[in-house]
Amino acid sequence: MKARVMVQVADRRLEEQEREIPKVGVDQALLKVEANGLCGSDVEQYKGHFVQKRLVEYPLIPGHEAVGVIAEIGADAAKSWGVKVGDRVALEPHLTCGRCPRCLQGSYHLCRSLLPIKQPPSYGYIPMSYGHGLWGGYSEYIHLHARTILHKLPPELPLELSTMYQAIAAGIRWSLHVPKTTFGDTVLILGPGQRGLGAVIACANAGVKQIIVTGLERDRRKLDLARAFGAHHTIVADRENVVERVMTITGGRGADVALDVTPGATQPVIDAINSVRNGGQVVLAGIKGGTKKVEIDTDTLVFREVSIKGLWTQGIDAYAQAIELLSRNYKKLAPMHTHEFPLSKVATAIEIMAGEHPGQEAISISIHPGR
Ligand SMILES: [Zn+2]
Ligand SMILES: [Zn+2]
Repeated sequence: MKARVMVQVADRRLEEQEREIPKVGVDQALLKVEANGLCGSDVEQYKGHFVQKRLVEYPLIPGHEAVGVIAEIGADAAKSWGVKVGDRVALEPHLTCGRCPRCLQGSYHLCRSLLPIKQPPSYGYIPMSYGHGLWGGYSEYIHLHARTILHKLPPELPLELSTMYQAIAAGIRWSLHVPKTTFGDTVLILGPGQRGLGAVIACANAGVKQIIVTGLERDRRKLDLARAFGAHHTIVADRENVVERVMTITGGRGADVALDVTPGATQPVIDAINSVRNGGQVVLAGIKGGTKKVEIDTDTLVFREVSIKGLWTQGIDAYAQAIELLSRNYKKLAPMHTHEFPLSKVATAIEIMAGEHPGQEAISISIHPGR
């Protein structure tokens, strides 16, 4: 049997190919991909930034936000994952060794020891030269490694909305779990894209006292969605002074937590630092593309005891909570899902995600290999 796949062969070049599907071992499974979500990392991957940083190499099948049904499964895998043929599951991107210090500590997303390759082993970033090559979601099938971490999806959750589990899980870990946010806190979220909205959804469900979201004039629709999902205040960053507005809203105190999820822009990092209270926390999770540097007055951090933490993945608790939250609230959250495409149109989908098609405002995009 063969799988139809979209292979990235060069920067901004995806090619449709066929690839042989190997036999499934006792501790493996075959996932029939029904949907694959896109995020900023897909844009970075498409443009070739990860190859330039020597994190990945071509050719590879991208796609790290896959949802699908178990088409075939070995006896050991069925037992350890608790799933059977026909179950719909969402994948975590990471493949982990389960034995190194980082894995044993629970930080399995920082495991570097599984495969004999340099990059963090993760679906969507493993070259086709390694093993069977079917490692990405831009494909009809993914051959699941024994170390895969997956989550069973409830049948009532519509497929088109299911890929939003990634953005909401990011919001949960970045705005709640790591900064240990509680209901009395004020959280500033810089950037109203899917991760920013995921953070709004997380904070609103946790009863956070004040949720403030920044965006640009062109993000009006996303800022309206942020309010619909529970944000108390929105700031238009290219028209208003972000720090002044946050200080007015908080009575001069500042936010407890500031989360930057803006892609490319560096001013939000400075705004985040200047918007938190003394002893406040800044979480950086927006990818800046590696070329832009941010000048920080470190004395400010010292005298005000502000901490800065970089985060890039979600974690098992956040995924489980995101799927539960999404399943309960999908009707309300549906407007966040803006586009869906067949597999053959994935390049167009990524370009829309990157904002390269004027007039197309993307938040959550899914591609569907079965269509
Ligand atoms: Zn992603
Ligand atoms: Zn490990």
